[in-house]
Amino acid sequence: MGNERVQKKLFGTNGVRGVIGKDMTPDLVMRIGKALGTMRKGRIAVGRDTRTSGEALACAVSAGLMATGCDVVDCGILPTPALQYIVRDHFDAGAMITASHNPPEYNGVKIIEPDGTEMGDEETLQLEEILFSGSFKTVPWDGVGGKKSEPNLRETYIDAIVDYFPPGIGAGMTVVVDPGSGPAAETTPQILSRLGCTVHTINGQMDGRFPGRLPEPSPEGLAPLAEMVRETGAAFGVAHDGDADRAVFIDNLGRYVEENREFGLIEDFICKNTGGLVVTPVSTSLIAGEVAKETGCAVEFTPVGSIYVARRMRELIASGNPVAFGGEGNGGLIYPEHQFCRDGGMTAAMMVGLLHAAGAPLTDLLDAMPTYHIIKEKLRTEHAASVVEYLKTRYAGEEIDCRDGVRINRKGAWALVRPSGTEPMMRVIIEAEDEKTSTAFFTEIMNGIKASAPDIASHK
Ligand code: MG
Repeated sequence: MGNERVQKKLFGTNGVRGVIGKDMTPDLVMRIGKALGTMRKGRIAVGRDTRTSGEALACAVSAGLMATGCDVVDCGILPTPALQYIVRDHFDAGAMITASHNPPEYNGVKIIEPDGTEMGDEETLQLEEILFSGSFKTVPWDGVGGKKSEPNLRETYIDAIVDYFPPGIGAGMTVVVDPGSGPAAETTPQILSRLGCTVHTINGQMDGRFPGRLPEPSPEGLAPLAEMVRETGAAFGVAHDGDADRAVFIDNLGRYVEENREFGLIEDFICKNTGGLVVTPVSTSLIAGEVAKETGCAVEFTPVGSIYVARRMRELIASGNPVAFGGEGNGGLIYPEHQFCRDGGMTAAMMVGLLHAAGAPLTDLLDAMPTYHIIKEKLRTEHAASVVEYLKTRYAGEEIDCRDGVRINRKGAWALVRPSGTEPMMRVIIEAEDEKTSTAFFTEIMNGIKASAPDIASHK
């Protein structure tokens, strides 16, 4: 395992998620706690995002952990990367109660390993096996664990990010932060302010009803942030998803920064200073490769999912291959010198460092980057696996990458067709240097898909 995607029963690529009261209940989460406590002993950190159901599920996972003899430390509300950072230095494992970017009625659990990474496939399959077979190792009365609260541990995460940069690097820079009523309301504004920035916030009060916008930081949801950036003359606006492992940006003119361009911009900044590999999923834009080439680096692809990126980065470094940077083209960026997980707070700080070094407005930096045309489509079919097999045969004469679905690489263009890990769906992404090429490539791929999956339907 390791560099291939594995089908699991309950867990997706980033933990378990579901609708509260329907498929996500305290009963299920307590069983997850018992399964985790059966696998990992010692002190376990529990954290949560701001969702209304967070406290109930945090109590449930804690009960399961204590019943299997673990001691629980309740870290309260904090971003997922903050919990990951804390677990790496102080705990034997972690459980984060979050549904990331999903709407307010969702919640879920991400399991954090002792090294701060999200639980990988092999261990998750083991955890599912314990969960479904009910083979929990609960302990007798004198072995049950205890629980205490340490809500201030997130400060160590804030300190780590601030200390990464030279003091006062943000002096003279105005920024607007939109934590989306999520846990970064108590981290990102503090980080940027301690870097010397003048910080304004919008949706800056924690609120699990998400009154200002949904947890997914979409261009539509960030329109008020964009307006505030223009009104305040800010250098940029930054917004997070529901658990702040991702960060997306608004430039100084109030334009949404497409996340692949964000990736390329930060990649350029890091690769100019640090040589090595850039690790990213097969779904990332050609921009990643262009920037790597210009800065003397190279890209290595992984299956789609931040855990595959993080683990590959760690593996490469362990085997003596320098890795400069990694992450996904959705604002989930990983800095190996800091920690092996996506970190929205670090990404916000990195933008300050980048603009300080560039001495130019964000808009100018973005306009200097190459542009590509991307088409994305989500399709419903029961035959996703046979579509992929069909395309592998059909394009066998071309350069193909079968790490996750099938990616067909051409000069200046690529197409990716990959089945969903959790639903009868498949995703298609096409990217090319111009719209005409991407549209023609898309039509060609769709004809191939229709030929191999008669039930295909567009999913809106
Ligand atoms: Mg997230």
